[in-house]
Amino acid sequence: MSTDTSIYLHIPFCKHRCAYCDFNTYAGQEATIPAYVEALIKEIEFIGNQKPDFNVPTIFFGGGTPSLLSGPQFDSIMSALFSAFSISANAEVTIEANPGTISPAKLDAIRKASINRISFGVQSSITEELRMLERSHDFFTVIEAVSTARKAGFNNLNLDLIYALPEQTLASWQTTVKRVLELEPEHISAYALTLEYGTPFGRWASKGILPLPDPDLAADMYEWTMDYLQQSDYAQYEISNWAKNVENRQSTVTFDSFPEFACQHNLQYWRSLPYLGLGAGAHGYAGGYRYSNVLRIKTYIDRLTDSQHANLTFPLTPATVNQHRQTQRDDISDYMINNLRLVQAGVADSDFRSRFGSGLLDVFQKEMEDLIRAGLIEKKTSDGSEVFRLTRRGRLLGNQVFLRFVD
Ligand code: SF4
Repeated sequence: MSTDTSIYLHIPFCKHRCAYCDFNTYAGQEATIPAYVEALIKEIEFIGNQKPDFNVPTIFFGGGTPSLLSGPQFDSIMSALFSAFSISANAEVTIEANPGTISPAKLDAIRKASINRISFGVQSSITEELRMLERSHDFFTVIEAVSTARKAGFNNLNLDLIYALPEQTLASWQTTVKRVLELEPEHISAYALTLEYGTPFGRWASKGILPLPDPDLAADMYEWTMDYLQQSDYAQYEISNWAKNVENRQSTVTFDSFPEFACQHNLQYWRSLPYLGLGAGAHGYAGGYRYSNVLRIKTYIDRLTDSQHANLTFPLTPATVNQHRQTQRDDISDYMINNLRLVQAGVADSDFRSRFGSGLLDVFQKEMEDLIRAGLIEKKTSDGSEVFRLTRRGRLLGNQVFLRFVD
């Protein structure tokens, strides 16, 4: 059996397109959800007939707003996945959900469809900030959503937050983090707002209408978050991700030991391990390829409906529009950029050797020496292997570090 391979399914529907969002998602197309689900099942069956033998350790429904699908729609997608793949008995299966799009009945149905983790897009607890982001919920809806999820039996919840919003103060960010901790999530993600080209936020910022987030304040928010969550017993295992520290103390996070509630699906990405991307606009990394699917919903449905696709080999499907055969150099670059995000586990020389056949310093001696001298990377020894990881300063300046590993 070959390397475990995860599955990402993209659900590109939202009730409203938020002004800061550059994801592949569409508002006002909910009428096409049934046809989209049928097409997604066809893509699952297509790849299921071609795949090599592997186990699926994690499945992730991302979006868009996956929680717009009904319980029976999740059930039929999960049934297709169980028929097509060998899914691990304890697989982590996550859906992203907007707090305002769930009900007790829907969550019961989702739980029965073997989905065992929910990631709620909370973003802020402050009504004015949520309005500015054009999010349709308020924090009371979040409280209700978490309570409903607990009652439906979910014991693995992530709450997603965004900081460095225009006009956000350190105090308002602290209020959000403290309120969120009251809800006792197993996992917290906190990302700085990025102003994406092509979004209304990006356009308004370039015209000077939207105040840019202050980078020094953003750094203060990030540093405060690292300290506060650590004191609150959440282990930071990735630049922007924390997991409730149930058994593992922060000091015991090692190359292959993570907190119990670390997101197993995202660890697959950060460890540069393979995953299939299914659905409109999904990206995948498997069989030596990085590839992506067609963006538009209608074209995606048409491509899966018209089944004249003789010469496609794993992992490509009728929906694939971009494919890149990875060179070893591509894999090494991606590996460094992904693995260095794991702020405690870092990159182990022993793993690098077993993946690429040479020592880390044989390939990156100058880069590592420069980064260690600049105080951005530190070297430790763990289980007899040298481990390289970001320092606290390196976490703030991650992009400068990653650039050193790009050709
Ligand atoms: S709900 Fe999420 S995915 Fe949908 S438009 Fe807003 S930010 Fe983007």
